[in-house]
Amino acid sequence: MSVRPIYLDCQATTPMDERVLAVMLPYFTEHFGNPSSISHIYGWEAEAAVKQARTSLADAIHATPEEIIFTSGATEANNLAIKGVAEAYFSKGCHIITVQTEHSAVLDPCRYLKTLGFEVTFLPVQRDGLLDLTQLEKALRPDTILVSVMAANNEIGVLQPLADIGALCHQHQVLFHTDAAQAIGKIPLDVQEMNIDLMSLTAHKIYGPKGIGALYVRRRNPRVKIAPQIQGGGQERGIRSGTLYTPQIVGFAKAVELALEERDSESQRLLELRERLWQAIAPLGGIHLNGHSTKRLSGNLNISVEGVDGSALLLGLQPVAAVSSGAACSSATIAPSHVLLALGHSESLAYASIRFGIGRFNTAAQIDRVAEHALSTIRSLRQSQTSCSQTSQIQ
Ligand SMILES: *Cc1c(COP(=O)(O)O)cnc(C)c1O
Repeated sequence: MSVRPIYLDCQATTPMDERVLAVMLPYFTEHFGNPSSISHIYGWEAEAAVKQARTSLADAIHATPEEIIFTSGATEANNLAIKGVAEAYFSKGCHIITVQTEHSAVLDPCRYLKTLGFEVTFLPVQRDGLLDLTQLEKALRPDTILVSVMAANNEIGVLQPLADIGALCHQHQVLFHTDAAQAIGKIPLDVQEMNIDLMSLTAHKIYGPKGIGALYVRRRNPRVKIAPQIQGGGQERGIRSGTLYTPQIVGFAKAVELALEERDSESQRLLELRERLWQAIAPLGGIHLNGHSTKRLSGNLNISVEGVDGSALLLGLQPVAAVSSGAACSSATIAPSHVLLALGHSESLAYASIRFGIGRFNTAAQIDRVAEHALSTIRSLRQSQTSCSQTSQIQ
């Protein structure tokens, strides 16, 4: 009999909430119309559903409905924000600032812009994963057009000081973009109070469907210009063409509504589960918490384990816990995470790391089971690695 491991990888994706699925279903079959069809009720129904979802999403971040541009997810939203601003503002300047610990969906568009002649500063972070604001201020130049700093890190859960960054950018009249894929529904996000000009969102990290997200684009104080990256039928005010995916949009809004309704109690519950896991594992010794201890997502625990091989650790945990490691497989090679390296870890410590992403459907009993298994796995790996001399270390 095969028992599937306990899912603890909620920074990668989350299972969809049944309540989200329920509101989506009629829009696949009964209300299947194209929201752009203006001549019949099929179109009107779909358009009304999209309008309601757009308003609800805008409310969630204190924006207006016209400022929400639907995309296929946060990857597309990040690409649209960064390339779209670069293209619209290059006559003003060609300098962009971002951070070394960003998601590849921010880093790669920035690297691409470098090949087109833009200059990009990739700021380092402190050992706790937080950006040093004095470093940011020093990096700002008269030709800086955009600062892109994520809200919550997908590997180590660290929450960047958005309001302070926004205030600084506002003061220097530089646009501020934030990738909030991990933050929406989990921490308060207010584009007015935090001076955020562009914000990337996605549904599937908060129990919504995959393949839908949005970019918030500020319309006043200042009015942000953005060059479309996908052209066609002129949907989303010409900024992002393509037939709107009504079921996904309806599900996205429902997922955000549920997350906000339950945010305070859920974040407390996740915090307790995370503490339970940490308190069970930490006494082993040689366990490092990656990222700031309190300024982080409540469901995220990322640890590095001394004296074990990273792949052996992951392999050992696999039967019981579905987690991710600090090693990213890109094509054929396994490399230690760029985020953990940016914290100043050695390659082997970055490599021997585990990300636990605790979520809505995890229970205390599951956490205890995983903790118990992690303890025995680490103990036995350490024993076997001290008995056979450390020749198996990766070079
Ligand atoms: C998941 C994630 C993305 C990518 O989002 P998709 O909707 O899957 O494209 C981007 N940034 C961060 C921080 C993420 O966690």
